[in-house]
Amino acid sequence: MTLEGRLVDWFRSNRRDLPWRRQRTPYTTWVSEIMLQQTTVDVVVPRFVAFLRRFPDIQSLASAEEEDVVAAWSGLGYYRRARGLRLGARAVVERFGGTIPSDEKDLLSLPGVGPYTAAAIRSLAFDQPAPAIDGNVARVAARLFADDGDVGKAGTRRRLRERLVPHVPEGGAAAFSEALIELGALVCRPKSARCDACPVADLCAARLTGRVATLPVRQPPRRSRPVLSARAWVERGCRVLLVQRPADASLLPGFLELPGRWGPAGENPPDVVREVLENLGFDDVRTYEPVAEARHAITHHRIRSVAVRADVVGAAPGGCRFVPWDEVDLERVTTETRKLLRSREASV
Ligand code: SF4
Repeated sequence: MTLEGRLVDWFRSNRRDLPWRRQRTPYTTWVSEIMLQQTTVDVVVPRFVAFLRRFPDIQSLASAEEEDVVAAWSGLGYYRRARGLRLGARAVVERFGGTIPSDEKDLLSLPGVGPYTAAAIRSLAFDQPAPAIDGNVARVAARLFADDGDVGKAGTRRRLRERLVPHVPEGGAAAFSEALIELGALVCRPKSARCDACPVADLCAARLTGRVATLPVRQPPRRSRPVLSARAWVERGCRVLLVQRPADASLLPGFLELPGRWGPAGENPPDVVREVLENLGFDDVRTYEPVAEARHAITHHRIRSVAVRADVVGAAPGGCRFVPWDEVDLERVTTETRKLLRSREASV
């Protein structure tokens, strides 16, 4: 029997009974896949059931208030995922009439949907030959094909996906993807692969060449660097000064944020804020005490954000504007600025 045939057969008799498998739709697939990112199956199961009870379909999620969605996400952590899911649901309702698309480009155009989630929805819910390569599936595939590329790299994952695609059985893409996921979870474990219980042991290149213990290859993550992000907190009456990120910025183009910049962790925040405001073209800049602080992390950087109260003279130069507090849309500001502004909400 072929590799795919054995995997699918094995899956049919060994599959775990998970709630998203009982009611497989594009919506339940999307919700469960987002929840399963960075959270274990045991933690996700009860929360998935409760979330589906609260938001049974894309329409109910799209029309929900952000705080209700975040509350229903309680216990899962990484609340950014909940916000992204809600924004994605709204985009589906607005742009696709409430029907989750099956086309890769359309899926990738949705907020919160990256290549993995798009592939998971396509293969699991629409039965398309698009194996979703998460860490578990990458491990299984790297061992099956004895691929010694770094599975942390996009190029390796792309190659593994290309090597899996010819094995996707006609009309059985969903079962094949589920089988790979299940094999990674139950048998082809990271440290203790149970090759003696594996349905494809005699086809597995890593096992046949004695390389199970050394595959997959993964470079250790680079150590993250501490940085200071000093931000200006300039209020005029009931308005706050925000600056718009460039339209061609690689991250959050067009979003608003408190003016500021990154720098070495040891810099003095008021000095940085004065420099930033003067560079923007403001005169007579005065800086005072820090008013808010937040911490977050972006690839390889641990960021300490400090907002420093400041006064300036003159009109806001191009790219900046004073926005009334009650018109600040927290969905259109950067995560960092949202965190800093929320500390104001907490103290008002
Ligand atoms: S034989 Fe071992 S290493 Fe190969 S896929 Fe099966 S469990 Fe994984």
